[in-house]
Amino acid sequence: MNKFALLSCLLLGLLACKTEKTTSKQQPNLIMIMTDDMGYADVGFNGCTDIPTPNIDKIADQGVRFTQGYVTFPVCGPSRAGFLTGRYQDRFGFTTNPSIDPNNPISGLPVEEETMAQVLRKAGYKNAIVGKWHMGTHPNFHPLERGFDYFYGFLSGGHNYFHDELYLNDLSEVTKKWEWYRTKIIENREKVETDDYLTDELSDAAVNFINQKVDKSEHFMLYLAYNAPHTPLQATEKYLSRFPNIEDKKRKTYAAMVSAVDDGVGRVLKALQDGGINDNTIVVFLSDNGGAHNNASDNGPLRGLKGDLFEGGIRVPFAMRWPAVIRAGQTYDKAISSMDVMATIVAQNNIEISAERPLDGVDLIPYLTGESKEEPHDYLFWRKWEQNAMAIRQGMNKLVANNNQDNNAPELYNIENELNEQTNIKAENEELSNHLLEEWEKWNAQLKDRVFPTLGGDEWWID
Ligand code: CA
Repeated sequence: MNKFALLSCLLLGLLACKTEKTTSKQQPNLIMIMTDDMGYADVGFNGCTDIPTPNIDKIADQGVRFTQGYVTFPVCGPSRAGFLTGRYQDRFGFTTNPSIDPNNPISGLPVEEETMAQVLRKAGYKNAIVGKWHMGTHPNFHPLERGFDYFYGFLSGGHNYFHDELYLNDLSEVTKKWEWYRTKIIENREKVETDDYLTDELSDAAVNFINQKVDKSEHFMLYLAYNAPHTPLQATEKYLSRFPNIEDKKRKTYAAMVSAVDDGVGRVLKALQDGGINDNTIVVFLSDNGGAHNNASDNGPLRGLKGDLFEGGIRVPFAMRWPAVIRAGQTYDKAISSMDVMATIVAQNNIEISAERPLDGVDLIPYLTGESKEEPHDYLFWRKWEQNAMAIRQGMNKLVANNNQDNNAPELYNIENELNEQTNIKAENEELSNHLLEEWEKWNAQLKDRVFPTLGGDEWWID
């Protein structure tokens, strides 16, 4: 070995040693619990009174409740694409829910993009997704091809909850629209026979994964993507019987579905305690979009619903705890984004991100430790390409054209003064409105049009 090679080896050895020491001290586990179509006001930490959520509330109690936590889109698929990449999903043309066609190789999260699991794998994480995928059903897009080591759940955007209603072996047997809600559950790449209420099955799988990682002393990321409380509204008597005082049948079933999720969250938190990994595990809780028109959810004081760029569509129940680092019992009132979760875990691991695909989120930790008092985001942006709709937020000002197919002028609201976006103050603030529109246009110029067929738009199930 020549001198140069010897020196290189020594240097590499030193670097490897330094990396291992640094990361082994700092690498937290990450559990992300995402609900589906849950209303802003449907958790105890946001004031819910008819549905107790003591376990979900623990996440906020043990860390921080975000009063202004946003997702990047008011509907499932694009919101999850933004969340899982830490980037605005329209940068890669994920503008709407994709087709569920299992033979379509472009209908999903583009393979050029890196998921959080792919990125964390570089730092030695073992990654699992339990629940709803929705990032493409073609084999190219399978979770095990996108950085995950374990998958238990379903590939499409929603699912029936009762095991005896899951009669299709796989998506190739779909003969009509929405029948993809009835495929059997998949473990890794194989279908499995289930015998329990789906929410409970998902909680079981999540706890099993955590226990396995504890046994092996491996650090991990778990994306626990419950499809509850998305329609169909289905719950078992075990959970329905907890709500004898809710008369409205839909709200009662919704409450039961949320209660089942809350039980699961309690079991996850207990597994962390039992496994001795409570302090150094980050747990994030959020919904993928606001409460929907069809599931009896409640967005409280917010205007609008799932599908809207008003607050009710994009501001969600959002909490995070990391006992080793974040002081318990905080309320954080500045606007943050679901994309910040990716940026936060990347920063904790010092992972280098490709300059071609920079993250749009920010590391939240300096804001939660009090190190920074600034706004985490100068601007937050939204776009609904299909509807020519837009929104931008700067401070407490928000310019929004919720559904702009008729080219209606955007409206300006101050959501500090008026959370329910009723008084359009654009006429008195033309300069500010023009500035916001210019910033939005600059951002919009970086985005792509839709790259795949929409959900149900291609009728792929008809031969
Ligand atoms: Ca959703």
